[in-house]
Amino acid sequence: MPPRVVTRQRVLPSFDFAQDPERAKRVEGLRHPMRPRAGAAYRAPFAAGAWEPWLRVTRCLLAGFVLWLLCLSVVTAAEPQLLVGTAKRDLTPPVKTPLAGYSRRGGKPATGTLDPVSVRAVVLQAQDTTVALVSCDLLIIDERLFEAVKARVRAGSSRPIALLLAATHTHSGPGAYGQKFLEKLSMGHFDPAVFDFLVTRIAQAILEARATLQPASVRYAAAPTEGLVVNRMQPDGVVDAEVTVLAFEDRRGAPRAIVVSFGAHPTTLGAWNMRLSADYPGVLARAIEERYPEAMCLFLAGAVGDQAPVKQGERFERPKWLGEQLASRVLALLAQATQGTSDSLQVVQRTVALPPARIRLGPVTLPSWLGRSLVDDDASVSVVKLDRIMVFGLPCDVSAELGLDVKQRARRAGYQPVVVGFANDYIGYCLPERLYRTISYEASLAFNGPTTGSMLVEELKRMMGQLSDQ
Ligand SMILES: [Zn+2]
Repeated sequence: MPPRVVTRQRVLPSFDFAQDPERAKRVEGLRHPMRPRAGAAYRAPFAAGAWEPWLRVTRCLLAGFVLWLLCLSVVTAAEPQLLVGTAKRDLTPPVKTPLAGYSRRGGKPATGTLDPVSVRAVVLQAQDTTVALVSCDLLIIDERLFEAVKARVRAGSSRPIALLLAATHTHSGPGAYGQKFLEKLSMGHFDPAVFDFLVTRIAQAILEARATLQPASVRYAAAPTEGLVVNRMQPDGVVDAEVTVLAFEDRRGAPRAIVVSFGAHPTTLGAWNMRLSADYPGVLARAIEERYPEAMCLFLAGAVGDQAPVKQGERFERPKWLGEQLASRVLALLAQATQGTSDSLQVVQRTVALPPARIRLGPVTLPSWLGRSLVDDDASVSVVKLDRIMVFGLPCDVSAELGLDVKQRARRAGYQPVVVGFANDYIGYCLPERLYRTISYEASLAFNGPTTGSMLVEELKRMMGQLSDQ
């Protein structure tokens, strides 16, 4: 009698090879894994009992797959959604290009290079938002330069990139790129080749940074410094000596970008210097990049309007001293920086119509029709929000008091603020009305009347409120 294979479910036919050699030959060709040993009962491949080990294996595999999916979703949720890319380009213009910074230089050509000038870009991306934070070793970013870079970036990128294009405000950087009369006074005659060179290099840095995006997280720190900055308008005036640091780190915790904001005019080198230099921000950036060779250090000038750098040593020792002092504070701060979650990135940028131009030359105020032809009648302001971090971009030489006003409001609302001047545009000095009324260099360069500074600060606060509500 052929043996019967009994399963829990049903009884299925089987046969004995010894009793049916012809059939045994036919099944010899089968290479089923369940093929019986010689003389053993053959179980038809479709028999339920034969499938049982397979079902067990399949069930195990399915359970493992589901478990893997669950683990994957937990890991994905815990990982930062922020992507960060960095790039740097040299900004050394053709030889004999004038320096930008002091009208006393009279637009004379530079005599060489003291230290490199660069553009450094950090591109941030989370979900549908992409932002470039850009630090250029330039005196200012005027509207034409900003618009030209924006157009070049738009042409080279498949998705929109919001720009926070800022100048470090070095007073020994490349000149000849401003077309307005007042710009020519401080940076020499306009040279379209220099303008195009700067646009090209800045756009290249942004697009390259965009192409190097990697997962990252962010940390924030802020702390006062001592003995590095003074008020240059009033001996007892407001001083904001705080340095703020954003550290963007990769999955290993290694810094990829360190963004430093500090409010002291990069004027350690005076009009007497005729060689290209990034001033103390260059010393700072190189010191940080030497410590972290895989990272890029971006200096963003804070509310420097009425803030002068403390100068130690002889002439060329001054930028070195201040840059190194600041670098040591930044390196110490990096150890204390708090971790953010960094998965929510938002940007708001507005163009604000300014009060009519009021250009004052001592006691004389130019008629507004003439003033309008010399300076801007609108200003671009920006807020970049990265979870609890808020970066405020202002298009001016903003005073410490106004910068502090923005920072304090942000902190009261639970945010970690970074104030950036010389961003996306340039409209001169932004001062509180009290300082606008003084007879001073800074007040004479506040071109759009007494309320422009407070107007821009109020606009930033409104933008902050709108971002908070979202
Ligand atoms: Zn300035």
